[in-house]
Parts: sequence; C-alpha cells; structure tokens
Amino acid sequence: MKQWIWSFLMVVLPLRHLYLTSSFGYRVHPLTGKNTMHCGIDLRADLDTVYAVINSRVAEVGHESVLGIFIRITNGPFCFTYGHLAMPFVCKGDTVAAAMPLGISGATGRVTGPHLHFAVQFQHRYIDPLAFLLAAVKIISNP
Ligand SMILES: [Zn+2]
Repeated sequence: MKQWIWSFLMVVLPLRHLYLTSSFGYRVHPLTGKNTMHCGIDLRADLDTVYAVINSRVAEVGHESVLGIFIRITNGPFCFTYGHLAMPFVCKGDTVAAAMPLGISGATGRVTGPHLHFAVQFQHRYIDPLAFLLAAVKIISNP
C-alpha cells in the first residue's frame, strides 16, 4: 500500500543543478567557528529558481536572522525548508505541485555568500536531504 501511494508521487530536485557546498551533520560553522549541527544541506545557487520537491502546501513564508527569507512546505509527515531566498513567489496556505517554482534563491540571513539552504524534516525530525532524495528515487523506481 505504502509503495503504491509513493508511486503516484513525483519527487523533483530543489534546484535545476545540484552542487553541494555543505553537507548535513556536525560542522565547524563558517561564521561562528563553533562545532554546530547543520540541519540541512547547502547548494550552490545565485538568483536561481527553487522548486517544490513534492506536491505540498505552503506552511510558512517568513524572514528571520539566520535563515533569511524562507519557505516551508509540508505534505503528511514531511516538511521542506528553503532558506536564504531573495524572493518568494508563494504565500502561506498555497497548494503547490512538484516542480512548481517557489521563489528565487539569494543571500538573505546569516550567510557568507549566496546559496540555498535546503532542509527536510520527517515527523518533525531533521533528516539528511540527500538520503531523502535517494530513498525517494529508489522507492519510485521499484514500486
Ligand atoms: Zn545551510
């Protein structure tokens, strides 16, 4: 049953080109110098379009000091965060389809340069976004 449901879902990449600049897990923060948990991945992007990875609903569009302008989209147990954006295209409550443009990446918040911070939560826990994408590809390929 689970596999069948999955097979109807489309999963797309958050950016047209993936170039990983910082991975998920503990790291020495480039600005604070402290060993801190990085709860997502950083992808090279400079005013590039960011896309909804799955069919979802916009849970939040906001601005805060670390993440800058960010968008959160959710579907079931999954929540995806896109941070350091230059411009969001969507509003809280919008329904978005996989591959729909959500906004333009940028360098807002606490950054050393423009990039996309992309995070995935499963049942409110941060998981490695690369592991999520890999698992999705495997499940969709073998329903
Ligand atoms: Zn990051």
